[in-house]
Amino acid sequence: MTCLFCQIASRELPAQIVYEDDEVVAFEDIAPQAPTHLLVIPRKHIATLNDIEEADLALVGRLQYVAARLARQFGFADDGYRVVMNCNDDGGQTVYHIHMHLMGGRRFTWPAG
Ligand code: 5GP
Ligand code: ZN
Repeated sequence: MTCLFCQIASRELPAQIVYEDDEVVAFEDIAPQAPTHLLVIPRKHIATLNDIEEADLALVGRLQYVAARLARQFGFADDGYRVVMNCNDDGGQTVYHIHMHLMGGRRFTWPAG
């Protein structure tokens, strides 16, 4: 398996990991688009949002739960933040292991580009 995020989750490749448990890992994005820009991923390899199965529902909920807890921990839960999951080419996905972008520490515009 030569998936970048699988390798980060297993610590074969380095990353600034800020949270991990049995199912979920969160680490700093290498090219941050906000003062805090974290990626929250499942340890399980799921390529895209389209590949989520019913058995994964609790896991995907856990991604969101961990992201919200990290927003609190990093101090921007109340001011607000942006969570994004990109899917496939038109969505801007570049790493094919699902990940939730958690960005905070600045004001975001809408609609996203
Ligand atoms: P996507 O474009 O697939 O939604 O997001 C992929 C994200 O992964 C990008 O924000 C990119 O900066 C980040 N990224 C790509 N390669 C690496 C890496 O090797 N380490 C870390 N920490 N982030 C990466
Ligand atoms: Zn993977």
